[in-house]
Amino acid sequence: MLARLTRALRAPLLTLGTLTVLVHPAPLRAQATSTAFTDVTVLPMDGDRQLTGQTVVVEGGRITAMGPSASVRVPVGATRIDGRGKFLMPGLAEMHAHVPPGNPTQQQLADIMFLYVANGITTIRGMLGAPYQIQLKEQLASGAMLGPRFFAAAPSLNGTSAPNPAAAVALVRQAKLTGYDLVKIHPGVSRETWDAAVAEMQAQGLTYAGHVPMGVGVVHAMRTGIATIDHVDGYLEASVRDSAVYASGGQLGDVIDAIDPSRFAALARMSRDHGVWNVPTMYLWENFYNDRTAEELAALPEMAYVSPQQVNGWMNQKRGRALADENQRMTPERRARYLALRREMLKALADAGAPLLMGTDSPQMFNVPGYALHRELAVARAAGLTPYQILESGTRNVGRYVRESLKQDGDFGTVAVGQWADLVLLEADPRADLEHLTKRAGVMVRGRWVSASEIAAGLERIRATHAASRQGS
Ligand SMILES: [Zn+2]
Repeated sequence: MLARLTRALRAPLLTLGTLTVLVHPAPLRAQATSTAFTDVTVLPMDGDRQLTGQTVVVEGGRITAMGPSASVRVPVGATRIDGRGKFLMPGLAEMHAHVPPGNPTQQQLADIMFLYVANGITTIRGMLGAPYQIQLKEQLASGAMLGPRFFAAAPSLNGTSAPNPAAAVALVRQAKLTGYDLVKIHPGVSRETWDAAVAEMQAQGLTYAGHVPMGVGVVHAMRTGIATIDHVDGYLEASVRDSAVYASGGQLGDVIDAIDPSRFAALARMSRDHGVWNVPTMYLWENFYNDRTAEELAALPEMAYVSPQQVNGWMNQKRGRALADENQRMTPERRARYLALRREMLKALADAGAPLLMGTDSPQMFNVPGYALHRELAVARAAGLTPYQILESGTRNVGRYVRESLKQDGDFGTVAVGQWADLVLLEADPRADLEHLTKRAGVMVRGRWVSASEIAAGLERIRATHAASRQGS
């Protein structure tokens, strides 16, 4: 009782005129019920270890007790979930999501959010801001819409939206006023504009993250406090042996030939030393540059969960790559080399102990929300990262990033008393094989249990909707 009261007092107060309303941080339904996972193996993700034979109690959206089953009392009336033979770990995070801009319908948004939950993803960071997303954040936080917790970046600061320092400063002020959690950076920003934007973002207490503009460069971006470097391009560009390659047009094919991977380790150490996070988004580039055809990619099972129009758009994009590759002087050898260099850079970051987060850029080309993250993990594994490094980048690191960088409630990403109950229950140990992350017995979002059967039913509804529109078209 006392714990619940303290929690209530910690909840943010919203003052409306003279009326003070307690904003519930979790759905009321979750507050009213308690759940206990019994006899489960816990992967707490506070280190590479497991705790067997545990009972984990969830009340009011948070973990309130955890310990050997013999010593933890399950509250009267709690829903019991049999954890025998199963593994309980923190939910994963998609830290480079593009929640659609424009005016998506509530149903479209609900479907996307459901795809995340269905895939064990309990946190997303939106990197394509739109004003409606402020309301969406609230809908998700209150439980009015089932979905992950949502941190939203502002609409992108780039060469077009911020052609000069004054425009950049105005954009940053607007981002703060609207209530976004961070600023998203895209290419095209000059160094002068960058420096002005950085001064304003720091004054406003906003962090900045994303694609490193060429005119700024990854070294200057790190020195001036970029929070996350998304995609590894900035590192590759900084590893070019001879910048004369840019003078002759800077075609990607030529740039690739000029990349010197012996520079990767020093850049990776710089990321670690500056505490700069990395969101590698490997899988998208694999789809851009691998040898798979549009038809092969469109045949992947997860394509059933997005609209046929979206899949057709992706197929056209993939077919269009041939021409783009020709213009960029990309040969099959250079494409393969490019993907290998990206993997090598990711491995260098992991080896240096540079902080990593998980993200995919979904729903860009063939990146189905939720499913793409699991494809991303497979690429990270192929790049030589250990399962633990990969799991950590999607769990514990996310809580740390939110706490230390965004300066917000990051009480998640590990399984421990006091943490939000953002959890995944698996049928098998993901450390033995990351594929096991897809063998879900259920997902818990801030205390709300979403069972395997509820997940299956929700997925089937989404699949059927798209199948019907496929028939109709
Ligand atoms: Zn993006």
